[in-house]
Amino acid sequence: MLACGAANTAKLLLISASDEHPNGLANASDQVGRNYMFHNSQAVLALSHDENPTVFQKTLGLNDFYFAGKGHDYPLGNIQMVGKSQAPMYRGEKPVQTRLAPHWTLERIARHAVDFWLSTEDLPRPENRVTVDGDGKLTLAYTATNETPKKQLHKQLGSMLESLRMEPDHLFHRFAYMKNDIPVAGVAHQAGTCRMGSDPETSVVDRDCRAHEVDNLYVVDTSVFPSIGAVNPALTAMANSLRVGDHLLERLGARAEVASASV
Ligand SMILES: Cc1cc2nc3c(=O)[nH]c(=O)nc-3n(C[C@H](O)[C@H](O)[C@H](O)COP(=O)(O)OP(=O)(O)OC[C@H]3O[C@@H](n4cnc5c(N)ncnc54)[C@H](O)[C@@H]3O)c2cc1C
Repeated sequence: MLACGAANTAKLLLISASDEHPNGLANASDQVGRNYMFHNSQAVLALSHDENPTVFQKTLGLNDFYFAGKGHDYPLGNIQMVGKSQAPMYRGEKPVQTRLAPHWTLERIARHAVDFWLSTEDLPRPENRVTVDGDGKLTLAYTATNETPKKQLHKQLGSMLESLRMEPDHLFHRFAYMKNDIPVAGVAHQAGTCRMGSDPETSVVDRDCRAHEVDNLYVVDTSVFPSIGAVNPALTAMANSLRVGDHLLERLGARAEVASASV
């Protein structure tokens, strides 16, 4: 069972080449390491007319723009709240003005801040991939995808601010969080490098997360995601692992029954 995370699971398979699997374990299709995805994420801050004393802000999210709909022919993604920002946090952010601002101004911003997290789907591209050289050094080649819906989701949120009693033209990018423009080594929601599918030519594992080529090899981390969607991945990874666990119990149980019947 492999669950080393999308980059390291691919690495382990790629460095496990042998005479039987010269291209890496379970990699006759050359799919291991490909289709690396994370998320087009944007952390933004709006300013409310009213004070925002919320402590557990992260409990709210909405999927009204998750699918194509009025005004957009394609899915835009998910809008959720992110942990409530505090004045000292702004000091660590990118714009130099934030670092130099007097503390009372930051305190005032924090009192009125409403913090959003926007997630747009990253699309699987075979060229976005993990490779490993002869010394075992992992390289990630990545080009961003799906930029237009990402911008449109930002615009969509901006268009709703006034009716939410927030400053209409103030939607600031937060730089304290993961963003696409930080180095790729900072990615968090990695997935896709051993995609699940029914065709061994275009996928690494089958629907039960069993490697097409190796009967007793399973992958249960986010590597198996054929798409990343626009919601956080951890619960999906956990739910899928439980599903695969049930499959294994069934498979091993069936084997035990055959063994005891033959005795
Ligand atoms: C800063 C940050 C914030 C995040 N916030 C959220 C969030 O709010 N919600 C959400 O849903 N997701 C969030 N994520 C993403 C989430 O953590 C991942 O999607 C999830 O943990 C992926 O699970 P996984 O099993 O694929 O891999 P991981 O959880 O990364 O587990 C892989 C494990 O394998 C181990 N490993 C690696 N190589 C080897 C090896 N060769 N041998 C043995 N062990 C090895 C690693 O040490 C690690 O313990 C966040 C991630 C980060 C980094």
